[in-house]
Order: sequence, then structure tokens, then C-alpha cells
Amino acid sequence: MKIPSSHPRALSLSLRNLIVEGIEKGITSIHGLIAHGRGEAFDYLLGEKTTHEAQHALRVAAAELLCAEYPIISMNGNVAALCMKEMIHLAQTLNAFIEVNIFHFSKERVKMIESMVRENGGKNVLMNADDENFILLPGIDHPRARMHPRGIAQADCIFVPLEDGDRCEALVKSGRKVITVDLNPLSRTARTATITIVDNIMRTIPLLIEEIKKLKVKSKDELAKIMNEFDNRKNLDEMEGIIRRGA
Ligand code: ATP
Repeated sequence: MKIPSSHPRALSLSLRNLIVEGIEKGITSIHGLIAHGRGEAFDYLLGEKTTHEAQHALRVAAAELLCAEYPIISMNGNVAALCMKEMIHLAQTLNAFIEVNIFHFSKERVKMIESMVRENGGKNVLMNADDENFILLPGIDHPRARMHPRGIAQADCIFVPLEDGDRCEALVKSGRKVITVDLNPLSRTARTATITIVDNIMRTIPLLIEEIKKLKVKSKDELAKIMNEFDNRKNLDEMEGIIRRGA
């Protein structure tokens, strides 16, 4: 459906359309609609804007990604539908691999997303669907425990937006730094991740790329200072406060 730009909720409706198109193309699971709806509700409560606190978290995330020895960009079906090009741009900025990792695992869907990343110019995508040498993430009793041997299995830092609580917890327990984007400051993922950016992924990725470019010139010590001064739980409490008080 074509949404008139004069519609007061044009942007929100266009994002819904992207998710529906993702389902029609076969890259997004039907369950993705529910996850998107939950995100929409929190975005509404946050005034549909990037808060000062989210901006702070994404600055710290940029520092963390720049300091990582081997960062990986993880992409699921909702993220692929909403902002594949921006994620490719992020991976290029960091010179990092993209690994497709979906909640409702299906080889066909993983393959489809991997091909789309390539079609959209993403050269650094790991072909997880075809690789039989995958390693399993301990603590996850499900095919989504698959980690590519040159991807998440090797990574010290993972950027994994719109993640689910179980896998986030397992990734953190495995000793990896986990950076997520989640509009719900109360979700298990938000509470478990190393750094949580409470914002809409559509706004986050371009800002994160900008921040990485700005921080690239900083020394390791300056980046470490940015990371050490950050308290994820405090940031989440502040985000929750914004929702309770009304954005
Ligand atoms: P958890 O297992 O972490 O408690 P959950 O079960 O509440 O999570 P999921 O369905 O696993 O939720 O994941 C969807 C999450 O992604 C939700 O917390 C939702 O707020 C968030 N989300 C959905 N769309 C977006 C978006 N566009 N930008 C950022 N976050 C989003």
C-alpha cells in the first residue's frame, strides 16, 4: 500500500510496510510482526526520537566496536527487512563480517538473506546456511545456536540488534561483548547486553556510523575512558524514567 507523505504517521506506517514486504519476500518470519509491534509501542512512548541517553549509549557502542579485535555484525529477519543497506554500510565502516542469525531458524531463509546482502553490495557476508562446520553456542538448545567458525564463534564483540533474551544471555556468558538495539528498556536482552541502545534501529544505524567515523581518530585510551564511564543499567533506568514521566 502506498502511504501518502501527508499522513501524520507516514514514517511509522512505512516501517510496517517494510516488515510486511519482508514477510512477502520470505526474509522475515510472520512472528516478526509481533516483535515489530512491541517495538512500535515503546517508540511511541519514547516520542519516536533518539534521546540524549540513546545517543550516549551509541557513542559508547561506537567506541567498543572500534576497540574490538574482531567485531561481527549479526543480522536477523526484521533487521534485514528494515535496514539491510544501512547494516551493510555499518559493516563496511568497521571492515567487519555480517553473519545472518535468525530466531525462527530455516536454512532457506538464512540463504535468502545472505543472497540479498550480496545483491545489495555487501561483500563481507558469511555463508552460514551452507557451512556445515558451524559451532554451537553453549546454553542454546536450538538451531539458532549456530555460529559461523569465522563469525560469531571467533568474535570478541557482536553487534546484534533486536536480539532475544536467551541468546543475548548465552552470548554474554560466553565472554563476548554484546551490543544491542532494543526499544524496550525492560526486555531481557536490554538488561543482559553489555551495551543497550534504546532507540529505533532505523534511527540508530546512521547515527552509529557517524559516531564511529568521529571516534576513529581517538586514541585507545580516550576510547577506553568513554567505555569505562558508561553504566548500562543506569542508562536503562534513565530510559525507563523517560517512559514513566512521559516523553
Ligand atoms: P526478550 O527475550 O529480550 O525479553 P522480547 O521477547 O520482549 O525480548 P522479542 O520478540 O524477542 O522481544 O524481540 C523484539 C524486541 O525488539 C522487542 O523488545 C522490541 O521492543 C524490539 N524492537 C522491535 N522493533 C524494533 C525496532 N525497529 N528498533 C528497535 N527495537 C525494536
